[in-house]
Amino acid sequence: MASIFSRIIAGEIPCYKVAEDEHNFAFLDINPVAKGHVLCIPKHEVDYLFDLSDEEYASLMLFVKRVAEALKKTLPCVKVGEAVLGLEVPHAHVHLVPINKESDMNFFKEKLSLPAEEMQQIAEGIAKNF
Ligand code: AMP
Repeated sequence: MASIFSRIIAGEIPCYKVAEDEHNFAFLDINPVAKGHVLCIPKHEVDYLFDLSDEEYASLMLFVKRVAEALKKTLPCVKVGEAVLGLEVPHAHVHLVPINKESDMNFFKEKLSLPAEEMQQIAEGIAKNF
């Protein structure tokens, strides 16, 4: 069965889309640890990031870099933090989070719940800068 993220790429499940290229896709995390928390995924469904081919991995990382640049332009921050966990959804994904201090990227604190309009506005802002 297709992963929830493959179903998002296929348009079967809605998302706040941020960016897309031939091999990769980015959208807002539905339970953000901070405003502008983005997930970047390869279109090829692979559970474990390091099972991607060298070409797929390189393509994803260059895509991640472009998304991070657009994210920083949209939501100015000290840095954009990057993390890979992947224990919840078995489709490789890279978390990008705008951070001003270490605790902004704490995956164990209570997640934010932002209004749909704000999520849409953030996604559109990043998309414009991509
Ligand atoms: P992990 O697999 O531990 O890296 O976490 C998976 C991430 O995917 C979590 O941060 C979830 O909030 C996020 N997530 C799960 N389902 C969706 C969805 N339908 N849309 C956006 N983000 C999601």
